[in-house]
Amino acid sequence: MSATLGVMLKELSPNLEIKLFEKLSKPAEESSNEWNNAGTGHSALCEMNYTKEESDGSVNIDKAIQINEQFQLSKQFWTYLVNQGQLTNPEDFIRPVPHMSFVYGDHNIEFLKKRCDALSKNPLFNGMTFTDDFETLKHWMPLMMEGRPSHDKIAATKIESGTDVNFGNLTRSLFDDLQDKGVELNFNHSVQNLRRNQDNTWQLKIYNSETKTTEYHNANFVFIGAGGGSLPLLQKTGIKQASNIGGFPVSGLFMVCNNDEVIAKHDAKVYGKAKVGAPPMSVPHLDTRYIEGKRSLLFGPFAGFSPKFLKTGSNIDLLGSVKPNNVLTMLSAGLKEMGLTKYLVEQVLLSDEKRLEELKEFIPNAKLEDWEIVVAGQRVQVIKDTKEGGKGTLQFGTELVTSDDGSISALLGASPGASTAVHVMLQLLEKCFPQDFPQWEDKIKQMIPSFRLQLSDHPDLFDEINSSTSKALGLYK
Ligand SMILES: Cc1cc2nc3c(=O)[nH]c(=O)nc-3n(C[C@H](O)[C@H](O)[C@H](O)COP(=O)(O)OP(=O)(O)OC[C@H]3O[C@@H](n4cnc5c(N)ncnc54)[C@H](O)[C@@H]3O)c2cc1C
Repeated sequence: MSATLGVMLKELSPNLEIKLFEKLSKPAEESSNEWNNAGTGHSALCEMNYTKEESDGSVNIDKAIQINEQFQLSKQFWTYLVNQGQLTNPEDFIRPVPHMSFVYGDHNIEFLKKRCDALSKNPLFNGMTFTDDFETLKHWMPLMMEGRPSHDKIAATKIESGTDVNFGNLTRSLFDDLQDKGVELNFNHSVQNLRRNQDNTWQLKIYNSETKTTEYHNANFVFIGAGGGSLPLLQKTGIKQASNIGGFPVSGLFMVCNNDEVIAKHDAKVYGKAKVGAPPMSVPHLDTRYIEGKRSLLFGPFAGFSPKFLKTGSNIDLLGSVKPNNVLTMLSAGLKEMGLTKYLVEQVLLSDEKRLEELKEFIPNAKLEDWEIVVAGQRVQVIKDTKEGGKGTLQFGTELVTSDDGSISALLGASPGASTAVHVMLQLLEKCFPQDFPQWEDKIKQMIPSFRLQLSDHPDLFDEINSSTSKALGLYK
């Protein structure tokens, strides 16, 4: 997120002086690392949680279109950077991988069919196909059909235009670009405190863990893009927007296949439906991934509970985030979300055999010895008071919290996450740089041709843009 913002700012205003502080020794070691997230280019092609079934049985696709439009912005920005030579070897960070949704049972099959009917009429979802035919399913997902009884009531949709994104490689390449553009990159620098100076600029207190010294840096504008570490820093700013906000950490685990024969039999990201009581981020999926230059197969993530806000965080992160101004919000969320907490604790306690049972819903012939466990990143879901949900409502989105004067902004939440970095940063630029933004618009349109347009309302423009992004990024048209 910070790398995306830095690169955009340097494109728009090359003379800006930017300093970046990262507490770890390298970039992309937390959520953006390829092993810590699922690498889905979120475009609602397969994620059923973005299409809600209404009480009249119809399927609402508004959210799906919104997420897809946002990912189109990311693809356009990456295309611009590739064409400029600022990002090289796009196959290192993005690959075409078909996206599929997979369901069991009559009701879910009916839902999936309606979902496909509604989405496939929209140009962004062009080519989405539904099947409940056993032979077609065998062709689409051979690994998932081996050993499956033919009376199983299952169905799937498939769309070729899905992607696997290696956000770790992407982040590292964006950091290289920042360095080339003269941004000061400071690793092993942990931001400990922020306070407003009398002239309304910000002073950051930073601990340098290499020299074991404390430094102070001043800035006119600060972006707190610290992933799970953003909430504690936001709370230190004292801005009124930081009140009544809390965080709910959710940990994750993936099962990773170590058998090349099994890996070779599957070529798709296949998303299932979340179980009743499960949060949307624990929707199980079986994903072909490209990690460390190799094709891999991952299943999960299994969500769990951990009080840490970062993978490298501390067990007192959650407790430490409870402040007088959010204690009621946090307590209300605690009471409301007992079911979720119980679910997450149960998930942490799952045995390998229980995880295998879940995997077998996707791969009936799965064997435990073919799979290993890796610990994924932490997601800190935002808790806040909302009109609809009342006090202490858990949010599943990504949220910018910005001061009135736009001099500081923090990014909270984790979903849809990295895929929407470009959309989120455009919002930030407009909010925090209102004086400069009008002059930047022409350049933004050069970088992101569909800026301010809904591509679903402009099918011809979508075709044109889709052709150029697919060509530059090596994707399926
Ligand atoms: C299990 C899981 C699956 C996911 N799947 C997907 C997916 O399929 N698709 C998708 O688009 N998104 C996905 N996401 C979300 C995505 O990973 C995040 O939205 C994205 O990586 C967040 O980027 P970031 O830069 O905000 O945070 P991070 O990548 O976590 O970076 C924050 C950085 O700030 C540093 N930091 C923290 N505190 C401090 C401090 N005090 N001082 C200095 N530095 C600090 C950290 O060390 C870290 O390097 C997933 C996340 C998880 C956990």
